[in-house]
Amino acid sequence: MTRRRRRLLGFAIIAVLAGLLPPVLMLTLSHRIAERNAVETLDGYAAVLQNRALEVFRSGEATLSEMAQRIDRNCTDNSVQELRKAVYRSLYFREAGLVYGQALQCTSEQVFDPPIPIANPDHLVMPADGIHIAAPQITLEGEVSIVLLYRVTDGIAVNLLLNPQHLTEPLLGAVNAEHVRLVIERSDGILLAQFGATGTDDVIRASSQPPGYPVRVIVSASRAWMMRDWARNLRGFFGIGLLLSLPIFLLLKRVERREQTMDVQIRDALEAGELRVHYQPIHSIDGLRVVGVEALMRWQHPRRGLILPGAFIPVAEENGFILPLTHWLMRTVCTEMAALLDRHPDLYLALNLSPRHFADPELPQLIRNIFAAPFAAGRLVFEVTERELMDSRTQTASDVMDLLRRDGSRVALDDFGTGYSSLQYLAQFKFDLLKIDKAFVDAIGTESVTAGLVDDMVAMSKRLGMKAVAEGVETAAQLHYLQQLGIEYVQGWYFSEALPLDQLETYLARHANPR
Ligand code: C2E
Ligand code: CA
Ligand code: CA
Repeated sequence: MTRRRRRLLGFAIIAVLAGLLPPVLMLTLSHRIAERNAVETLDGYAAVLQNRALEVFRSGEATLSEMAQRIDRNCTDNSVQELRKAVYRSLYFREAGLVYGQALQCTSEQVFDPPIPIANPDHLVMPADGIHIAAPQITLEGEVSIVLLYRVTDGIAVNLLLNPQHLTEPLLGAVNAEHVRLVIERSDGILLAQFGATGTDDVIRASSQPPGYPVRVIVSASRAWMMRDWARNLRGFFGIGLLLSLPIFLLLKRVERREQTMDVQIRDALEAGELRVHYQPIHSIDGLRVVGVEALMRWQHPRRGLILPGAFIPVAEENGFILPLTHWLMRTVCTEMAALLDRHPDLYLALNLSPRHFADPELPQLIRNIFAAPFAAGRLVFEVTERELMDSRTQTASDVMDLLRRDGSRVALDDFGTGYSSLQYLAQFKFDLLKIDKAFVDAIGTESVTAGLVDDMVAMSKRLGMKAVAEGVETAAQLHYLQQLGIEYVQGWYFSEALPLDQLETYLARHANPR
């Protein structure tokens, strides 16, 4: 896949992510909100049910306890009168009765003779304390009732028949009977009252326990009920989601750009043709003619402007991409400079090499291939720093340098004096030129301890039969000092910065001796 394709694919992924992410997020969020709303509504229903249950059972308990105090222990007129009063006092209760000898003796309606035996033991429970809530059952009137029992004394109890509908009554008009289910049951799971849907897809539940009574209230609803609420709000949420898409898209794009490492950016720059070569003139000290130019790479970034090699060459050296970069540089220089070198036969061209090139025995052949046609290899100087030699395998580096020199190229030791063991390299490798680092030129005329070192370096280069170039000459005073020392070449902003080809041509027209 080409880099452009990969970029397009990355862009597409970001667009899809930005387009999908906010609506999906909104969908999830609105679902959560709908679910929470639903639970809250059901909690509300449960609270209403619990209050009603409390009210009904408390009222039942109060009525029964009062009845128990006033009633006779058999079915006297007074007893029947009390049973009647109890029923009239509240709308919740259908009937009241007196139980003993495991039989119903009389009710608010009539006295039974003989009494009616009660078969269901649940309807005979006489609690030591408070009321017993017995399971609903069809009672004498042919209707389902919940029976509340209260102990009068051993073996004697009063009871009240409660219509279960009273328990759910306050919610009957409020809940959606199709989807919501209300249940009141005893703690042992016996159903007391229910209302609404009986479907099995209930997903949301709320429950509560009326304090003091062994019952619980359970409210549940189907997924469909919740979804209806959700669907109502969804359109608004979708709108917000889409509005968020744009900023998210921009954010993701930004992140992607950051993520794109310098590594990838350099590759892209090479492919997109954003790299340039600038040429810095090198002057002879006598007469200050231009004798050579050093090719220096530049990156013309579409947004960030001109980027100097210090920002990208080290990364390229690190990851090996320096090899294609240098190949590109050589081909470009070869094409750009052919005419100029032809017009200025004394001009040499200096190129910087990296350690990786010196570990590559193919390098001389590559250089031969590139530079063979337009101009002879004899016009080339290859600049190497000590660091490069240190990093490469010494034997290969030495062989490569020999081959280059056999082809007529020269080799310069760059940034001389900045490495660990400059002198050792001078003994080990054969250099044609010594480039004295800018740091030593800067020190000229200062109090710095390195101020005098440039003198020694020039003297040494002469002893070893090399020519010296002073780098980074910025002032007339520095130039004057170097002239006194008898150095051969100077390079620096005092003369010129590295120039693009067209400006170099103008510069050469003024400072070199064309053919
Ligand atoms: P270098 O080989 O030592 O190149 C000289 C550097 O000093 C250049 O910086 C040049 O612009 C700068 N310079 C020259 N005269 C002056 C001056 O008077 N004052 C100051 N302050 N600076 C001056 P540049 O172009 O930024 O290059 C930096 C380094 O990047 C180079 O140092 C070289 O090591 C590396 N480089 C540049 N182009 C290439 C390339 O094509 N291949 C390789 N392998 N390295 C390169
Ligand atoms: Ca250099
Ligand atoms: Ca240098």
